[in-house]
Amino acid sequence: MAKKGLLIILSGPSGVGKGTVRKAIMAKHKVRLTYSISMTTRAPRAKEVNGRDYYFVSKEEFQRNIDEGNFLEWAEFVGNRYGTPKDKVDQLRNEGKNVFLEIEINGATQVLSKVKDDRVVSFFLKPPSIEQLENRIRKRKSETEEVIRERLEKGEKEMSMTEAYDYVILNDEIDRAAEEIISIIKEKQKA
Ligand code: 5GP
Repeated sequence: MAKKGLLIILSGPSGVGKGTVRKAIMAKHKVRLTYSISMTTRAPRAKEVNGRDYYFVSKEEFQRNIDEGNFLEWAEFVGNRYGTPKDKVDQLRNEGKNVFLEIEINGATQVLSKVKDDRVVSFFLKPPSIEQLENRIRKRKSETEEVIRERLEKGEKEMSMTEAYDYVILNDEIDRAAEEIISIIKEKQKA
């Protein structure tokens, strides 16, 4: 039987660059990864596409998915809900595919406490400084000042919540961080 695919978790504060690093990892095509598309109640940002970046759903539909037990994890983040569809993750891993989750810290904690097999590898992406985190969130120009502040406050608290993760990766440079993660995934694949 084919080896079960890895479950790769990339977490860290909002604005640290999880999405950018994830895209850099995938664009290099050095490891085979399937990105798990989350469901969210947040409105799409410009250029975001339903079914590619997220499944954008109503609050009611999200609640129905909670009630039906369809999420591996879900969390509320600054006024919106985000969740990882469970069946898809299981199915892909059973087919031997490596599944990549890019999720906030609360959700990552849930996954780490639920999924106990030895083919899970978790990364905490850390910003070089709080100032950089703020710059990134502001550059996105998609949130109101209030939401920016909430995201920043949350980010500051989360900076030190690294104990549960297998690896802490410094996002000093996107390419370098991506390569570091790729080499760890490659090693883990061999195991
Ligand atoms: P954003 O609104 O910036 O796209 O996402 C807000 C936060 O939610 C980010 O830290 C992002 O990584 C995280 N996130 C995205 N999808 C999920 C998910 O399925 N579950 C959880 N727990 N967090 C998610």
